[in-house]
Amino acid sequence: MNYAQILDQIHRDLQPYLGTGRVADYIPELANVPADSFGMAIVTPTGEVFRTGQADTRFSIQSISKLFACTLAFRLLGDALWERVGREPSGTAFNSLVQLEAEHGKPRNPFINAGALVVTDVLCRRFAHAENALVQFMQRLTGDPGIDYDLRVAQSELRHAHRNRAMAHFMASFGNLEMPPESVVDAYCRQCAISMSCVEVARAALFLSNGGIAPVSGERILDSSSTKRLSALMLTCGTYDAAGDFVFRVGLPAKSGVGGGIVAVLPGEMAVCVWSPALDSNGNSLAGVLALEWLTTYTGQSIF
Ligand code: GLN
Repeated sequence: MNYAQILDQIHRDLQPYLGTGRVADYIPELANVPADSFGMAIVTPTGEVFRTGQADTRFSIQSISKLFACTLAFRLLGDALWERVGREPSGTAFNSLVQLEAEHGKPRNPFINAGALVVTDVLCRRFAHAENALVQFMQRLTGDPGIDYDLRVAQSELRHAHRNRAMAHFMASFGNLEMPPESVVDAYCRQCAISMSCVEVARAALFLSNGGIAPVSGERILDSSSTKRLSALMLTCGTYDAAGDFVFRVGLPAKSGVGGGIVAVLPGEMAVCVWSPALDSNGNSLAGVLALEWLTTYTGQSIF
């Protein structure tokens, strides 16, 4: 498969779409990124890297961090994690509060904000600084000790985190947070503010296309059954309320973030990350979804 050529073609075909959509501005610091930025990288388990555009430019991974935080929490708690957070698509926006009351403070899945706050609570319980534990995990997965979170983005989100605070306190009222809600929100905003490039994010996710083993270090991250389960969650919940349409168009398990990044995996073959900050109405990168749709169309490769 000539991935290099296919990535270049996608980049060319995307030109009219770059910048269409809206850059997230409810976290003011995210709005400073040029809307028409674009990068994309494919990384294979054998270490090949294919890139186009700004594939080495770091961006705010935002909710892509939920995938890796969930991996850490799943390693710590195993199936007990599902007593506190569900495994069903929410059918609501990523930051919605509406289901929480009816469902007694148990979020639908770990990839909406409420679920991710529970996951961060698990990490806060175990680690003195959950965000640092996640940063170190990303460093290990990529082999890059330079990965860190962007304090300005974290502080910008913390100043405007009213919804996430509301959610955390609400879940605490149902007994589904063990640590103080303020410290959970603090760690959550810092973990969302991790900066990584497309190549780095794809490399970090490679263990999911490699049966649970990180090719960079040879470390087993998850057993193969847990790897399957996490990938299944990405498929059904990784792109929020658009998960059905995303799977219809792209056919890969994926996780998106409001920084404009989307990471997707094709088991046995690759991890791919695309970044373009202008979002569609569901909070997914508009050009990013298109790029992944064209990737699976041009290559004829998907999980189906
Ligand atoms: N930090 C963001 C928030 O909590 C992450 C949301 C996202 O990327 N969808 O709102």
